[in-house]
Amino acid sequence: MGEFDLIARYFQRPTTRAVLGVGDDCALLQPADGMQLAVSSDMLVEGRHFFADVDPSALGHKALAVNLSDLAACGAQPLAFTLALALPRADEAWLAAFSRGLFALADTHGCELVGGDTTRGPLNICITVFGEVPRGQALLRSGARAGDDIYVSGTLGDARLALEALRGKLTLPSGWMGAARTRLEQPTPRVALGLALRGVASAAIDISDGLIGDLGHILSASRVGARIDTAVAAGLLAGDLDGRVPDGLVHHEARLACVLAGGDDYELAFTAPVSARAAVQAAALEARTTVTCIGRIEAAPGLRLVDAAGQPVSGDFASFDHFA
Ligand code: ADP
Ligand code: MG
Repeated sequence: MGEFDLIARYFQRPTTRAVLGVGDDCALLQPADGMQLAVSSDMLVEGRHFFADVDPSALGHKALAVNLSDLAACGAQPLAFTLALALPRADEAWLAAFSRGLFALADTHGCELVGGDTTRGPLNICITVFGEVPRGQALLRSGARAGDDIYVSGTLGDARLALEALRGKLTLPSGWMGAARTRLEQPTPRVALGLALRGVASAAIDISDGLIGDLGHILSASRVGARIDTAVAAGLLAGDLDGRVPDGLVHHEARLACVLAGGDDYELAFTAPVSARAAVQAAALEARTTVTCIGRIEAAPGLRLVDAAGQPVSGDFASFDHFA
């Protein structure tokens, strides 16, 4: 199978929203009047972002999900994406499963594959997504103000637990491991929530490298500081299928480390003024996504972790090594 057969068989599909898709030198997109184009790229490298033996359909899902998560964080509606792929060989079973996982998520969001590049090489997947957002309404990192509430969507930390379990560093009960592994390998981009938060959130980011590090980007872009209630944050692990975190299995500090600095969560961290509390809850309901208020933006720079009584919590959670 040659390069062009491979593209035609696994990656060329008719487009409905793009003016021109796969097959010419460029794709053509036509954003609607008054809309700005939101563009983002993310690359997944074998050994660095995924294990060589990962299910290719999950990999197809994740490669697009991490990109859609960036559109979500901007409050942009997905439109289209390109796929640059380096493959060690043309393995048809692998390509069929990869493209199945990729297109299943793409179709859920009406996001069309419009072009890309295919070469031989160590497995490497780079997707660029294009979305649209009404002029001036994109959610940025720079809009947080002192006094704003800080929220995160969904649950945090389970992806990291699954990663540590796959590395053999700990054992999770099977019900929890299955769910945690899905969080790691097939994250859910919070696109609907990002759209619902336009005009409500003051700043937003998606959590790919861990809450503390990513929230830090909002703090520096907005020139503010923050206080996080670690008692609330520690409750954000999803746990097993009944939503329980079995006691003693993961001690408090490790739980907190996973939540605060685990990475690979693809939830949204966002801020909103106190006056928007009802609007935040309405957005969460509309998007069918839970949101939890975990702290407050403060004028003083820096990030302060406190317990339920407001006392400082120590621990170097920014550099995660609690399983080392
Ligand atoms: P060019 O030589 O102009 O770079 P190519 O020969 O690499 O174009 O690709 C031919 C067509 O196939 C182009 O429209 C390109 O966008 C598309 N394409 C190549 N690889 C992929 C891929 N992995 N997924 C989707 N489209 C692809
Ligand atoms: Mg080319």
